[in-house]
Amino acid sequence: MGCSKCGRPGVIFQGYSGLHLCMQHFKEDFLHKAKKTVRQHHWLVPEAQIAVALSGGPASCALLDFMRTIVGERKDIRLVAVTMKNNRPYALENAKKIVDASGIPWYIFPKNSETIPQGERPGPTLRSPFPAHASIESQLILMAGALKIDTLALGYTLETHAEWVIRNAILGDSVRKSGCTPNVRPPVQVIRPFMHIPVKETGLYTQLFLNGQDERVETEGKDHPGDPVSLLLAQLYSRHPAIPYALVNIGEQVKKFRGRGLS
Ligand SMILES: [Zn+2]
Repeated sequence: MGCSKCGRPGVIFQGYSGLHLCMQHFKEDFLHKAKKTVRQHHWLVPEAQIAVALSGGPASCALLDFMRTIVGERKDIRLVAVTMKNNRPYALENAKKIVDASGIPWYIFPKNSETIPQGERPGPTLRSPFPAHASIESQLILMAGALKIDTLALGYTLETHAEWVIRNAILGDSVRKSGCTPNVRPPVQVIRPFMHIPVKETGLYTQLFLNGQDERVETEGKDHPGDPVSLLLAQLYSRHPAIPYALVNIGEQVKKFRGRGLS
């Protein structure tokens, strides 16, 4: 099927927009969505010290490329990549390829949550409701702090955010705080520029535009396979592809509402 905008061969059909997009229009759409998210949240400010969490998975590689694109030649913003050592050699190879190509400073840390003193663990308000994510986030936040970084960019995608909203709604206060408390300012701000981009599109972006990435590396976020909520949501999204957008938007509205102190 040809691109809905220009008629050239399509590379993706977006069920939520009803559009077929060619390679160029897919890239434009992808970057437009991520830039809009960054702009709306005022995440790119002068003197920012930003670390991109680079696992070597497709979303993290796409995120590093995106952040490098938007920071561009700005001399007032520092951009580095941070990686926790993992047991996925292909992923580390991918990470190395992309930092070598980009020239961005890269820091690798051992994975060992036991070395984090209890008092220095980020509080629940900073964390993802998923235990696997929360542990990684805690360690990345500490890494960023050690490097004098004030912003940590994570490659979480649309589906992950939509699932947070559902879990926060279902599971009550202790979890709700994890995703939606904006009024506690962390020393390291966590940003998620791909929160409006489906996971499939981060994979396609990496495949099409980041040459040499090893396709054996799976997308992150499969750390709770078989979970009934995840499975039900995946089935729902396949029938109604606009629903994750609606959920993320609801989550953002709740955040704003609470941010005004009206909750
Ligand atoms: Zn096109």
